[in-house]
Amino acid sequence: MSATGGRRGTMLALVKAAPGPGLELREVPVPEIGINDVLIRVRKTGICGTDLHIEAWDPWAARTVRPPLIAGHEFVGEIVEVGSNVTDFRPGDLVSGEGHVVCGRCRHCLAGRRHLCAHTIGLGVGRDGAFAEYVALPMTNVWHHWPGIDEDVAAIFDPFGNAVHTALAFPVLGEDVLVTGAGPIGLMATAVVRHAGARFVVVSEPNPYRRAIAARMGADVVVDPRERDLRDVQRELGMVEGFDVVLEMSGNPDAFRTALANMAHGAGMAILGIPTQELSIDLSEVIFKMLTLKGIYGREMYETWYKMTVMLQSGLDIRPAITHRFHARDYAAAFAVARSGESGKVIMDWTDR
Ligand code: NAD
Ligand code: ZN
Repeated sequence: MSATGGRRGTMLALVKAAPGPGLELREVPVPEIGINDVLIRVRKTGICGTDLHIEAWDPWAARTVRPPLIAGHEFVGEIVEVGSNVTDFRPGDLVSGEGHVVCGRCRHCLAGRRHLCAHTIGLGVGRDGAFAEYVALPMTNVWHHWPGIDEDVAAIFDPFGNAVHTALAFPVLGEDVLVTGAGPIGLMATAVVRHAGARFVVVSEPNPYRRAIAARMGADVVVDPRERDLRDVQRELGMVEGFDVVLEMSGNPDAFRTALANMAHGAGMAILGIPTQELSIDLSEVIFKMLTLKGIYGREMYETWYKMTVMLQSGLDIRPAITHRFHARDYAAAFAVARSGESGKVIMDWTDR
């Protein structure tokens, strides 16, 4: 059965048409699907920093992306068609997509550790993405939502998964947690560690707009790192040995080094933020404090997705991290506000063209 008609029509999509800055909203063919794929009518999408890099055509994008490419990987939509091998999904199902398409054949994939696949292809980076009226994905990249889920929340399951993967990398129950960087992902991670039973949650973020949201996400103390020393915050809270868990969500070298200096012996740092260049640290601090540093990329398939779902169902609220909503035709304004930093998560609506 095909909701797009026997002959596939065209759709609106936000396309990087050629190397260089900018994106174009244009008509392109609706994607074809193979026997193991599903075709999804996109309802809402989130804008990620990756999309901003692709739009701006910075050195990373110029190195990584081969135009023409439909951008975008954070989405929720409704299945409209399934390949002949697909039995677990049906037209009408509300789903999101895991944005990392893995090889399925390497050692880690075969062992069920798909997030460790070294041959990952990114939706909206290495293959056509979700900033479109339709997106095609392998069935192994699709996650069912429960009926009635807030569609804006469902649209950002991908970055919410980054937040959950990082926040739960070390046990946080009863622990003191430092979150460095309150971008959309740091904001969601703040709510996650609060929900998961942390004692104190301290968020360090220079941007006042985002600090205000961090307080609403459940942070006990929110600091501007340029103005207040974390040792002073520790004293105020009655902490004696340093933070047990750090979630590095800024990619900023100063944030990284300040966090290291404020960690307790035996503490863990989960590192999601991507530095734009090499950064140096005092490794002796890691050694003598016996710290564990863990890099985080993407989400665990599908343990992270399971955790996201059950935490939302048991009262976790990430909605304050969503600050702006636009129709996709107003994508330029949506990208501008996402880039400004005066925003949390920015959602684009792809229904009702
Ligand atoms: P973002 O850029 O919106 O947020 C980063 C925040 O860090 C900003 O609010 C910024 O003001 C803040 N910051 C800057 N300097 C700081 C300092 N010295 N101390 C504390 N905070 C500081 O990004 P995001 O979308 O929330 O993503 C967070 C990070 O994770 C980014 O670096 C992004 O590239 C990275 N990321 C990684 C993955 C992955 O799989 N590893 C996936 C998505 C995003
Ligand atoms: Zn693999």
